[in-house]
Amino acid sequence: MFTDDFKETPYWWEAAPIAERTQGDLPRTKVDIAIIGSGYTGLQAAVQSARAGRSTVVLEAEALGFGASTRNGGQISTSVKFGLAELTKRYGQEIAEGIVQEGQASRDYVEQFIRDEGIECHFKVAGRFDGAHSPRHYKKMVSSVAAGRYQNSGAYIVPEAEMPAELGTKAYHGGMVFPRHANLHPALYHKGLLGVARAAGAEVHSHCAVTGIKRQNGGFLLSTLKGPVEAARVVLATNGYTGGITPWQQRRVIPIGSYIIATEELPEALIDRLMPTDRNICDSRKLVYYYRRSPDRKRILFGGRVSLQEADPKVSGPRLHREMVHLFPELADTKISHSWTGKVGYTFDTLMHAGHDDGLFYAMGYCGSGVGMSSYMGMRIGQQAVDDPRGMTAFNKIPFPTRPFYSGNPWFLAPSVMAYRLWDRTGL
Ligand SMILES: Cc1cc2nc3c(=O)[nH]c(=O)nc-3n(C[C@H](O)[C@H](O)[C@H](O)COP(=O)(O)OP(=O)(O)OC[C@H]3O[C@@H](n4cnc5c(N)ncnc54)[C@H](O)[C@@H]3O)c2cc1C
Repeated sequence: MFTDDFKETPYWWEAAPIAERTQGDLPRTKVDIAIIGSGYTGLQAAVQSARAGRSTVVLEAEALGFGASTRNGGQISTSVKFGLAELTKRYGQEIAEGIVQEGQASRDYVEQFIRDEGIECHFKVAGRFDGAHSPRHYKKMVSSVAAGRYQNSGAYIVPEAEMPAELGTKAYHGGMVFPRHANLHPALYHKGLLGVARAAGAEVHSHCAVTGIKRQNGGFLLSTLKGPVEAARVVLATNGYTGGITPWQQRRVIPIGSYIIATEELPEALIDRLMPTDRNICDSRKLVYYYRRSPDRKRILFGGRVSLQEADPKVSGPRLHREMVHLFPELADTKISHSWTGKVGYTFDTLMHAGHDDGLFYAMGYCGSGVGMSSYMGMRIGQQAVDDPRGMTAFNKIPFPTRPFYSGNPWFLAPSVMAYRLWDRTGL
Protein backbone atom coordinates (compact mmCIF):
# COMPACT_ATOMS: atom_id res chain seq x y z
CA MET A 1 0.00 0.00 0.00
CA PHE A 2 2.94 2.40 0.58
CA THR A 3 5.35 3.54 -2.15
CA ASP A 4 9.05 2.67 -1.69
CA ASP A 5 9.81 6.31 -0.89
CA PHE A 6 6.78 6.67 1.46
CA LYS A 7 7.05 9.53 3.97
CA GLU A 8 5.26 10.28 7.22
CA THR A 9 5.56 14.00 6.54
CA PRO A 10 3.21 16.29 4.58
CA TYR A 11 3.31 16.09 0.79
CA TRP A 12 3.42 19.91 0.92
CA TRP A 13 6.88 19.87 2.49
CA GLU A 14 8.34 18.47 -0.77
CA ALA A 15 7.89 21.88 -2.43
CA ALA A 16 8.41 23.95 0.73
CA PRO A 17 10.51 22.13 3.36
CA ILE A 18 10.16 23.55 6.87
CA ALA A 19 13.48 22.35 8.25
CA GLU A 20 14.97 25.86 8.59
CA ARG A 21 16.51 26.35 12.03
CA THR A 22 17.24 29.89 13.20
CA GLN A 23 20.64 29.84 14.86
CA GLY A 24 21.97 31.40 18.04
CA ASP A 25 20.46 33.28 20.96
CA LEU A 26 17.73 35.86 20.63
CA PRO A 27 19.41 39.07 19.44
CA ARG A 28 16.70 41.22 20.98
CA THR A 29 15.46 40.47 24.49
CA LYS A 30 13.15 43.47 24.90
CA VAL A 31 10.35 44.00 22.38
CA ASP A 32 7.04 45.75 21.95
CA ILE A 33 5.22 42.61 20.82
CA ALA A 34 6.10 38.94 21.27
CA ILE A 35 4.05 36.48 19.23
CA ILE A 36 3.88 32.83 20.25
CA GLY A 37 3.41 30.46 17.28
CA SER A 38 4.61 30.81 13.67
CA GLY A 39 1.54 29.60 11.74
CA TYR A 40 -0.74 31.80 9.67
CA THR A 41 -2.20 33.51 12.79
CA GLY A 42 1.19 34.41 14.26
CA LEU A 43 2.78 35.56 11.01
CA GLN A 44 -0.22 37.63 9.93
CA ALA A 45 -0.21 39.30 13.36
CA ALA A 46 3.53 39.92 12.95
CA VAL A 47 3.00 41.65 9.59
CA GLN A 48 0.54 44.09 11.18
CA SER A 49 2.65 44.71 14.24
CA ALA A 50 5.93 45.23 12.36
CA ARG A 51 4.29 47.44 9.73
CA ALA A 52 2.86 49.57 12.55
CA GLY A 53 6.45 50.22 13.64
CA ARG A 54 6.46 47.96 16.73
CA SER A 55 9.53 45.83 17.45
CA THR A 56 8.16 42.33 16.91
CA VAL A 57 9.46 38.85 17.61
CA VAL A 58 7.77 35.55 16.66
CA LEU A 59 8.73 32.60 18.88
CA GLU A 60 8.11 29.08 17.55
CA ALA A 61 8.64 25.91 19.57
CA GLU A 62 9.51 23.76 16.52
CA ALA A 63 10.57 24.44 12.93
CA LEU A 64 8.84 27.50 11.45
CA GLY A 65 5.35 26.52 10.31
CA PHE A 66 5.49 23.18 12.11
CA GLY A 67 1.79 23.32 13.10
CA ALA A 68 -1.39 22.95 11.05
CA SER A 69 -0.44 25.80 8.70
CA THR A 70 1.82 23.58 6.57
CA ARG A 71 -0.18 20.37 7.07
CA ASN A 72 -3.72 21.29 6.04
CA GLY A 73 -5.78 20.43 2.96
CA GLY A 74 -5.40 23.92 1.48
CA GLN A 75 -9.15 24.38 1.12
CA ILE A 76 -10.45 27.93 1.61
CA SER A 77 -14.06 28.40 2.60
CA THR A 78 -15.96 31.15 4.35
CA SER A 79 -15.10 29.28 7.55
CA VAL A 80 -18.18 29.90 9.71
CA LYS A 81 -20.18 26.69 10.11
CA PHE A 82 -23.55 28.26 11.04
CA GLY A 83 -26.06 30.28 9.07
CA LEU A 84 -27.50 33.65 10.06
CA ALA A 85 -30.64 32.19 11.68
CA GLU A 86 -28.73 29.97 14.10
CA LEU A 87 -26.23 32.74 14.93
CA THR A 88 -29.04 35.25 15.49
CA LYS A 89 -30.70 32.85 17.94
CA ARG A 90 -27.43 32.60 19.84
CA TYR A 91 -26.09 36.17 19.80
CA GLY A 92 -28.70 38.55 18.39
CA GLN A 93 -28.88 40.05 14.93
CA GLU A 94 -25.99 42.54 15.03
CA ILE A 95 -23.32 40.09 16.16
CA ALA A 96 -24.73 37.34 13.93
CA GLU A 97 -24.48 39.56 10.86
CA GLY A 98 -20.97 40.54 11.88
CA ILE A 99 -19.91 36.89 12.14
CA VAL A 100 -21.37 35.98 8.73
CA GLN A 101 -19.71 39.01 7.13
CA GLU A 102 -16.36 38.15 8.67
CA GLY A 103 -16.61 34.61 7.36
CA GLN A 104 -16.89 36.04 3.85
CA ALA A 105 -14.23 38.67 4.58
CA SER A 106 -11.76 35.97 5.66
CA ARG A 107 -12.01 34.24 2.28
CA ASP A 108 -11.62 37.55 0.42
CA TYR A 109 -8.79 38.73 2.65
CA VAL A 110 -6.56 35.75 1.97
CA GLU A 111 -7.09 36.12 -1.80
CA GLN A 112 -6.27 39.83 -1.71
CA PHE A 113 -3.24 39.33 0.54
CA ILE A 114 -1.76 36.66 -1.74
CA ARG A 115 -2.29 38.87 -4.80
CA ASP A 116 -0.98 42.06 -3.15
CA GLU A 117 2.15 40.32 -1.83
CA GLY A 118 2.70 38.31 -5.01
CA ILE A 119 2.88 34.98 -3.17
CA GLU A 120 3.26 32.01 -5.54
CA CYS A 121 1.15 29.33 -3.88
CA HIS A 122 -1.21 27.99 -6.58
CA PHE A 123 -4.16 30.01 -5.25
CA LYS A 124 -7.19 29.12 -7.35
CA VAL A 125 -10.91 29.89 -7.10
CA ALA A 126 -12.03 26.39 -8.07
CA GLY A 127 -15.13 26.09 -5.90
CA ARG A 128 -16.17 23.32 -3.51
CA PHE A 129 -18.43 20.35 -4.14
CA ASP A 130 -20.31 18.89 -1.15
CA GLY A 131 -21.50 15.33 -1.83
CA ALA A 132 -24.84 14.22 -0.37
CA HIS A 133 -24.17 11.08 1.66
CA SER A 134 -27.84 10.00 1.61
CA PRO A 135 -31.06 10.92 -0.26
CA ARG A 136 -32.18 12.69 2.88
CA HIS A 137 -29.04 14.85 2.89
CA TYR A 138 -29.65 15.72 -0.75
CA LYS A 139 -33.21 16.85 0.07
CA LYS A 140 -31.85 19.01 2.90
CA MET A 141 -29.35 20.60 0.52
CA VAL A 142 -32.11 21.39 -1.98
CA SER A 143 -34.31 22.97 0.67
CA SER A 144 -31.52 25.00 2.26
CA VAL A 145 -30.44 26.44 -1.11
CA ALA A 146 -34.10 27.22 -1.91
CA ALA A 147 -34.51 28.91 1.49
CA GLY A 148 -31.50 31.19 0.80
CA ARG A 149 -29.38 29.84 3.67
CA TYR A 150 -26.15 30.51 1.76
CA GLN A 151 -26.90 34.14 0.89
CA ASN A 152 -24.68 35.73 -1.76
CA SER A 153 -22.55 32.61 -2.05
CA GLY A 154 -23.83 31.56 -5.48
CA ALA A 155 -24.33 28.02 -4.10
CA TYR A 156 -26.20 25.70 -6.47
CA ILE A 157 -27.48 22.13 -6.53
CA VAL A 158 -26.02 19.31 -8.63
CA PRO A 159 -28.58 16.51 -9.19
CA GLU A 160 -27.37 12.91 -9.22
CA ALA A 161 -27.71 12.68 -13.02
CA GLU A 162 -25.13 15.48 -13.41
CA MET A 163 -22.62 14.00 -10.99
CA PRO A 164 -20.15 12.69 -13.61
CA ALA A 165 -19.20 16.30 -14.49
CA GLU A 166 -18.25 16.84 -10.83
CA LEU A 167 -16.93 13.54 -9.57
CA GLY A 168 -16.42 9.98 -10.76
CA THR A 169 -18.14 8.23 -7.85
CA LYS A 170 -21.50 6.56 -7.41
CA ALA A 171 -21.37 7.01 -3.64
CA TYR A 172 -23.21 10.36 -3.52
CA HIS A 173 -26.86 11.16 -4.20
CA GLY A 174 -26.10 14.49 -5.84
CA GLY A 175 -24.66 17.47 -4.04
CA MET A 176 -24.06 21.19 -4.13
CA VAL A 177 -21.36 23.57 -5.32
CA PHE A 178 -20.00 26.66 -3.59
CA PRO A 179 -18.34 28.38 -6.55
CA ARG A 180 -16.37 31.03 -4.60
CA HIS A 181 -14.40 28.60 -2.47
CA ALA A 182 -10.72 28.42 -3.32
CA ASN A 183 -7.62 26.34 -2.73
CA LEU A 184 -3.89 26.80 -2.45
CA HIS A 185 -0.64 25.05 -1.57
CA PRO A 186 -0.53 25.55 2.22
CA ALA A 187 3.23 25.31 2.73
CA LEU A 188 4.05 27.62 -0.20
CA TYR A 189 1.56 30.13 1.18
CA HIS A 190 3.24 29.82 4.58
CA LYS A 191 6.68 30.29 3.04
CA GLY A 192 5.53 33.43 1.22
CA LEU A 193 3.87 34.80 4.35
CA LEU A 194 7.04 34.19 6.36
CA GLY A 195 8.96 36.24 3.78
CA VAL A 196 6.41 39.08 4.06
CA ALA A 197 6.64 39.09 7.89
CA ARG A 198 10.44 39.19 7.78
CA ALA A 199 10.47 41.90 5.11
CA ALA A 200 8.14 43.95 7.33
CA GLY A 201 10.79 43.77 10.07
CA ALA A 202 9.58 40.94 12.32
CA GLU A 203 12.22 38.64 13.82
CA VAL A 204 11.16 35.00 13.64
CA HIS A 205 12.81 32.29 15.74
CA SER A 206 12.44 28.54 15.39
CA HIS A 207 13.08 25.96 18.13
CA CYS A 208 12.39 28.58 20.76
CA ALA A 209 9.50 27.25 22.86
CA VAL A 210 7.97 29.68 25.32
CA THR A 211 7.94 27.80 28.61
CA GLY A 212 6.41 30.41 30.89
CA ILE A 213 4.66 33.81 30.87
CA LYS A 214 4.79 36.16 33.86
CA ARG A 215 3.39 39.65 34.24
CA GLN A 216 6.06 42.20 35.13
CA ASN A 217 6.20 46.04 35.25
CA GLY A 218 2.99 46.44 33.26
CA GLY A 219 4.24 44.03 30.57
CA PHE A 220 5.38 40.40 30.34
CA LEU A 221 8.46 38.33 30.98
CA LEU A 222 8.57 35.24 28.75
CA SER A 223 10.85 32.32 29.54
CA THR A 224 12.01 30.66 26.33
CA LEU A 225 14.44 27.90 25.40
CA LYS A 226 16.77 30.62 24.07
CA GLY A 227 16.58 32.86 27.14
CA PRO A 228 14.16 35.45 28.58
CA VAL A 229 12.23 38.00 26.50
CA GLU A 230 10.56 41.11 27.89
CA ALA A 231 7.50 42.19 25.92
CA ALA A 232 5.04 45.02 26.41
CA ARG A 233 2.36 42.85 24.79
CA VAL A 234 1.96 39.21 23.83
CA VAL A 235 -0.05 37.60 21.01
CA LEU A 236 -0.92 33.96 21.53
CA ALA A 237 -1.19 32.16 18.16
CA THR A 238 -0.99 28.52 19.18
CA ASN A 239 -4.47 27.23 18.14
CA GLY A 240 -4.55 23.37 18.24
CA TYR A 241 -1.08 23.34 19.84
CA THR A 242 -2.10 25.53 22.82
CA GLY A 243 -0.41 24.20 25.95
CA GLY A 244 -0.11 24.68 29.68
CA ILE A 245 1.58 28.12 29.62
CA THR A 246 -1.86 29.64 28.97
CA PRO A 247 -4.28 27.45 30.97
CA TRP A 248 -7.28 29.75 30.34
CA GLN A 249 -7.01 29.23 26.56
CA GLN A 250 -6.04 25.57 26.99
CA ARG A 251 -9.34 24.98 28.78
CA ARG A 252 -11.22 26.39 25.78
CA VAL A 253 -9.50 24.79 22.79
CA ILE A 254 -10.01 21.12 21.91
CA PRO A 255 -7.00 19.70 20.02
CA ILE A 256 -8.15 17.10 17.49
CA GLY A 257 -5.90 15.21 15.09
CA SER A 258 -6.85 15.37 11.42
CA TYR A 259 -5.21 12.99 8.93
CA ILE A 260 -4.32 13.19 5.24
CA ILE A 261 -2.79 10.93 2.63
CA ALA A 262 -1.32 11.74 -0.77
CA THR A 263 -1.49 9.08 -3.47
CA GLU A 264 1.30 8.28 -5.85
CA GLU A 265 1.05 9.99 -9.23
CA LEU A 266 -1.99 8.73 -11.16
CA PRO A 267 -2.47 8.31 -14.92
CA GLU A 268 -3.90 11.55 -16.36
CA ALA A 269 -6.98 9.87 -17.85
CA LEU A 270 -7.85 8.23 -14.54
CA ILE A 271 -7.59 11.33 -12.40
CA ASP A 272 -9.51 13.34 -15.00
CA ARG A 273 -12.34 10.83 -14.84
CA LEU A 274 -12.43 10.62 -11.04
CA MET A 275 -11.96 14.34 -10.42
CA PRO A 276 -12.80 16.29 -13.56
CA THR A 277 -12.47 19.65 -11.75
CA ASP A 278 -9.98 21.31 -9.39
CA ARG A 279 -12.64 21.74 -6.74
CA ASN A 280 -12.32 21.01 -3.05
CA ILE A 281 -14.57 18.13 -2.14
CA CYS A 282 -16.31 17.38 1.13
CA ASP A 283 -19.31 15.29 1.99
CA SER A 284 -22.32 15.69 4.20
CA ARG A 285 -21.33 13.17 6.87
CA LYS A 286 -20.72 14.24 10.45
CA LEU A 287 -17.25 12.69 10.18
CA VAL A 288 -16.33 14.69 7.12
CA TYR A 289 -13.86 13.52 4.48
CA TYR A 290 -12.17 16.29 2.49
CA TYR A 291 -10.19 15.78 -0.67
CA ARG A 292 -8.90 17.37 -3.87
CA ARG A 293 -6.31 17.03 -6.58
CA SER A 294 -2.77 18.19 -5.89
CA PRO A 295 -1.98 21.53 -7.57
CA ASP A 296 -0.05 19.69 -10.35
CA ARG A 297 -3.19 17.54 -10.87
CA LYS A 298 -1.27 14.29 -10.57
CA ARG A 299 -2.30 13.02 -7.13
CA ILE A 300 -5.30 12.86 -4.86
CA LEU A 301 -4.99 14.30 -1.36
CA PHE A 302 -7.55 12.65 0.88
CA GLY A 303 -8.18 13.66 4.50
CA GLY A 304 -10.46 13.02 7.44
CA ARG A 305 -10.79 11.61 10.90
CA VAL A 306 -10.41 7.82 10.78
CA SER A 307 -9.62 6.71 14.31
CA LEU A 308 -11.20 6.92 17.74
CA GLN A 309 -7.88 7.72 19.44
CA GLU A 310 -5.04 9.70 17.89
CA ALA A 311 -3.17 7.37 15.53
CA ASP A 312 0.21 6.99 13.87
CA PRO A 313 0.22 8.07 10.16
CA LYS A 314 1.23 4.50 9.26
CA VAL A 315 -2.05 3.35 10.86
CA SER A 316 -4.27 6.24 9.69
CA GLY A 317 -2.93 6.00 6.11
CA PRO A 318 -4.45 2.59 5.26
CA ARG A 319 -7.74 3.58 6.92
CA LEU A 320 -7.98 6.71 4.78
CA HIS A 321 -7.08 4.59 1.76
CA ARG A 322 -10.02 2.29 2.55
CA GLU A 323 -12.43 5.25 2.67
CA MET A 324 -11.00 6.61 -0.58
CA VAL A 325 -11.44 3.24 -2.30
CA HIS A 326 -15.00 3.05 -1.01
CA LEU A 327 -15.66 6.25 -3.02
CA PHE A 328 -13.39 5.38 -5.96
CA PRO A 329 -13.01 1.58 -6.35
CA GLU A 330 -10.60 2.16 -9.26
CA LEU A 331 -8.00 3.34 -6.73
CA ALA A 332 -7.79 -0.05 -4.97
CA ASP A 333 -4.22 -0.65 -6.20
CA THR A 334 -3.06 2.94 -5.89
CA LYS A 335 -0.25 3.43 -3.39
CA ILE A 336 0.16 6.04 -0.69
CA SER A 337 3.25 8.26 -0.98
CA HIS A 338 2.66 10.45 2.11
CA SER A 339 0.57 10.09 5.24
CA TRP A 340 0.55 12.75 7.93
CA THR A 341 -1.39 14.36 10.71
CA GLY A 342 -1.76 17.73 12.40
CA LYS A 343 -3.81 19.28 15.19
CA VAL A 344 -7.00 21.19 14.53
CA GLY A 345 -8.20 23.57 17.29
CA TYR A 346 -11.91 22.95 17.95
CA THR A 347 -14.09 24.86 20.40
CA PHE A 348 -17.19 24.00 22.41
CA ASP A 349 -19.37 26.37 20.36
CA THR A 350 -17.76 25.47 16.99
CA LEU A 351 -16.73 29.10 16.41
CA MET A 352 -13.40 30.89 16.35
CA HIS A 353 -12.51 33.39 19.07
CA ALA A 354 -10.36 36.46 19.66
CA GLY A 355 -9.83 38.62 22.70
CA HIS A 356 -7.35 39.96 25.19
CA ASP A 357 -6.63 40.09 28.87
CA ASP A 358 -4.70 43.20 29.81
CA GLY A 359 -2.02 42.96 27.11
CA LEU A 360 -2.25 39.23 26.34
CA PHE A 361 -4.04 38.91 22.97
CA TYR A 362 -5.25 35.66 21.41
CA ALA A 363 -6.97 34.40 18.24
CA MET A 364 -7.76 30.69 17.86
CA GLY A 365 -10.36 27.92 17.58
CA TYR A 366 -10.84 27.76 13.80
CA CYS A 367 -12.51 24.34 14.01
CA GLY A 368 -10.72 22.92 10.98
CA SER A 369 -11.55 25.86 8.69
CA GLY A 370 -8.58 28.08 9.35
CA VAL A 371 -6.68 28.71 6.13
CA GLY A 372 -8.66 31.84 5.38
CA MET A 373 -9.90 32.50 8.90
CA SER A 374 -6.59 32.22 10.78
CA SER A 375 -5.04 34.56 8.20
CA TYR A 376 -7.85 37.05 8.72
CA MET A 377 -7.96 36.70 12.50
CA GLY A 378 -4.16 36.90 12.72
CA MET A 379 -4.33 40.15 10.79
CA ARG A 380 -7.10 41.46 13.07
CA ILE A 381 -5.43 40.40 16.34
CA GLY A 382 -2.21 42.03 15.13
CA GLN A 383 -4.17 45.25 14.63
CA GLN A 384 -5.72 44.93 18.08
CA ALA A 385 -2.29 44.48 19.63
CA VAL A 386 -1.17 47.83 18.15
CA ASP A 387 -4.41 49.59 19.16
CA ASP A 388 -5.64 49.91 15.58
CA PRO A 389 -9.46 50.20 15.89
CA ARG A 390 -9.96 48.27 12.61
CA GLY A 391 -8.86 45.16 14.50
CA MET A 392 -12.12 44.64 16.41
CA THR A 393 -14.08 41.57 15.26
CA ALA A 394 -17.50 40.12 16.01
CA PHE A 395 -15.65 37.16 17.54
CA ASN A 396 -14.33 39.46 20.30
CA LYS A 397 -17.93 40.04 21.37
CA ILE A 398 -19.03 36.48 22.06
CA PRO A 399 -18.22 34.36 25.13
CA PHE A 400 -15.43 31.75 24.74
CA PRO A 401 -16.97 28.74 26.50
CA THR A 402 -15.32 25.86 28.33
CA ARG A 403 -16.83 22.91 30.22
CA PRO A 404 -16.49 21.79 33.83
CA PHE A 405 -13.51 19.45 34.38
CA TYR A 406 -12.04 20.14 30.91
CA SER A 407 -8.39 21.17 31.09
CA GLY A 408 -7.14 20.48 27.56
CA ASN A 409 -7.31 16.70 27.32
CA PRO A 410 -10.30 15.78 25.11
CA TRP A 411 -11.26 12.52 26.85
CA PHE A 412 -14.70 12.72 25.20
CA LEU A 413 -13.26 12.50 21.67
CA ALA A 414 -13.37 8.70 21.23
CA PRO A 415 -17.05 8.35 22.29
CA SER A 416 -17.98 11.35 20.12
CA VAL A 417 -16.25 9.90 17.04
CA MET A 418 -17.97 6.56 17.71
CA ALA A 419 -21.39 8.25 18.00
CA TYR A 420 -20.82 10.25 14.78
CA ARG A 421 -19.80 7.08 12.95
CA LEU A 422 -23.00 5.33 13.98
CA TRP A 423 -25.03 8.41 13.08
CA ASP A 424 -23.42 8.56 9.61
CA ARG A 425 -24.39 4.95 9.00
CA THR A 426 -28.06 5.84 9.47
CA GLY A 427 -27.91 8.44 6.67
CA LEU A 428 -30.07 10.78 8.78
C1 LIG B 1 -4.64 17.90 8.72
C2 LIG B 1 -5.30 19.25 8.72
C3 LIG B 1 -6.08 19.63 7.62
C4 LIG B 1 -6.66 20.89 7.59
N1 LIG B 1 -7.32 21.27 6.45
C5 LIG B 1 -7.82 22.52 6.36
C6 LIG B 1 -8.39 22.97 5.14
O1 LIG B 1 -8.38 22.29 4.11
N2 LIG B 1 -8.95 24.21 5.12
C7 LIG B 1 -8.93 25.03 6.22
O2 LIG B 1 -9.46 26.15 6.15
N3 LIG B 1 -8.33 24.65 7.37
C8 LIG B 1 -7.76 23.43 7.46
N4 LIG B 1 -7.13 23.05 8.61
C9 LIG B 1 -7.02 24.02 9.72
C10 LIG B 1 -5.94 25.09 9.49
O3 LIG B 1 -4.76 24.47 9.01
C11 LIG B 1 -5.66 25.81 10.82
O4 LIG B 1 -6.85 26.36 11.31
C12 LIG B 1 -4.64 26.94 10.70
O5 LIG B 1 -3.48 26.52 10.04
C13 LIG B 1 -4.28 27.45 12.10
O6 LIG B 1 -3.18 28.32 12.02
P1 LIG B 1 -2.53 28.85 13.34
O7 LIG B 1 -1.41 29.74 12.94
O8 LIG B 1 -3.54 29.44 14.25
O9 LIG B 1 -1.98 27.55 14.10
P2 LIG B 1 -0.81 26.53 13.70
O10 LIG B 1 -0.42 26.65 12.28
O11 LIG B 1 -1.21 25.21 14.21
O12 LIG B 1 0.43 27.09 14.52
C14 LIG B 1 0.51 27.05 15.93
C15 LIG B 1 2.00 27.00 16.29
O13 LIG B 1 2.18 27.33 17.67
C16 LIG B 1 3.37 26.67 18.08
N5 LIG B 1 3.42 26.66 19.55
C17 LIG B 1 2.55 26.07 20.41
N6 LIG B 1 2.95 26.28 21.69
C18 LIG B 1 4.07 27.02 21.64
C19 LIG B 1 4.95 27.55 22.64
N7 LIG B 1 4.74 27.36 23.95
N8 LIG B 1 6.03 28.27 22.24
C20 LIG B 1 6.27 28.51 20.92
N9 LIG B 1 5.46 28.01 19.93
C21 LIG B 1 4.38 27.28 20.29
C22 LIG B 1 3.22 25.28 17.46
O14 LIG B 1 4.45 24.60 17.40
C23 LIG B 1 2.63 25.63 16.08
O15 LIG B 1 3.65 25.69 15.08
C24 LIG B 1 -6.53 21.80 8.69
C25 LIG B 1 -5.77 21.41 9.79
C26 LIG B 1 -5.15 20.16 9.81
C27 LIG B 1 -4.33 19.77 10.99
